[in-house]
Amino acid sequence: MDGIEMTRRRFIDAGGTAAAVSLAAIAAPAAALAQASGGVRPTGQLMPDGVKLPSTLPVRKRADSVGIAVVGLGGYALNQMMPRFAQTERTHIAAIVSGSRDKLRRVGDAYGIPPDARYSYDTFGKIASDDRVDAIYIVLPTGLHAEWVIRAFAAGKHVLCEKPMALSSADCARMIAAGRRANRKLMIAYRSHFEPYNLEAMKLMGQRAIGDIRLVRTEQSYRMAPTSPSENWRTNRALAGGGSLEDYGIYGLQSALYLKGEMPESISATAFRPPNDPRFTEIFAHVSSQWRFPSGAVAQLVTSYDSASTNFAQVRGTAGALIMDPATSYAGQKMRLEGRDERELTSGDPSVQFARQLDHFADAVRDNIPIRTPGEMGLRDLRLIEAIYASAETGRTVRLAPDGRMRG
Ligand code: NDP
Repeated sequence: MDGIEMTRRRFIDAGGTAAAVSLAAIAAPAAALAQASGGVRPTGQLMPDGVKLPSTLPVRKRADSVGIAVVGLGGYALNQMMPRFAQTERTHIAAIVSGSRDKLRRVGDAYGIPPDARYSYDTFGKIASDDRVDAIYIVLPTGLHAEWVIRAFAAGKHVLCEKPMALSSADCARMIAAGRRANRKLMIAYRSHFEPYNLEAMKLMGQRAIGDIRLVRTEQSYRMAPTSPSENWRTNRALAGGGSLEDYGIYGLQSALYLKGEMPESISATAFRPPNDPRFTEIFAHVSSQWRFPSGAVAQLVTSYDSASTNFAQVRGTAGALIMDPATSYAGQKMRLEGRDERELTSGDPSVQFARQLDHFADAVRDNIPIRTPGEMGLRDLRLIEAIYASAETGRTVRLAPDGRMRG
């Protein structure tokens, strides 16, 4: 292993390092995204369809349970995360923040949140003096993450921020710096790092279960229903960046890194936006990238908002292959080893990922353990996303330093 490769390996293990980001190094489309993330205001939305609110109040389990304020009562918060707090050992919902009065009332009543712990975006600043709240969980559209994470640190709270961390590496660096200044924890909610199948896959790849890895292929796609940027933030550039890569393809990007265990040294990419489709006036329909690793392995990552659903990761080595399909879902993961040790793998219940992620955050807050998915990991991933867009924009291969910054 040469010096650069060792640096790349260390960078993967540590989730990257937080160094100052050179805006000059960011290509034109990424710079536009960085600017886009400022100045967008949060607005309350209607209760998503199909939300089931709890009929009994959750019980707090431990005296040192971390009180978390949930910011943004949308589909993911209400359908996936909020119900999981009751399955954790060490967290509870201490407050909610929403732009919708109706949601504050209905969700607050259902989860037993006292009326004076229900905040609007305008009253959020008062949370600083609310001692029931130890930490803030940001589940807002991505373009709002940076500003609200920085506000949460200004309020003196620890932060769990949904993926992707932000829309630009410059914003990620600002978020990390704000956390350091406040001396508070910052964790990115990359749930697959707490999901048994993905953890088993990382272990197997570390044990060279398929020999030397030569190829990694990932795809995260689905077909988005007709919509437009004013109706759906996921198609609005200021809130979603380039679209499916940040929202869904990030799972493939993450798995390529943690399965290969190496940072790419170069990336080439294509992004496509069909004309006259209101879904894709501001974002891309498909993004495809090819990565080359210093070891000689290559990866191919595809993500789309306009093709039939799939979510897989495949790693092929000199002595076999690992196939995960679906790879990073909420539940129902399937995983198979092919080659000399052929078998279906069952690694436990994927649905534990949500509660385990929350408990890991609580352990970091209470016991000061290192965070498995820190802000530096989110920053590293945004650098790679920027490299993908830079290559797609210029049609050139982008060469990368071991920390993911574009060279030259
Ligand atoms: P939703 O659109 O369902 O909810 C977003 C919520 O943010 C809204 O309900 C609203 O809450 C609030 N909000 C504030 N301003 C705006 C605005 N201008 N436009 C839209 N919503 C606004 O999104 P999701 O819950 O699906 O996603 C939220 C975050 O969670 C994103 O960062 C996404 O990437 C991440 N996510 C993570 C997943 C994972 O598996 N880890 C899965 C899905 C999403 P209110 O009405 O209360 O103000």
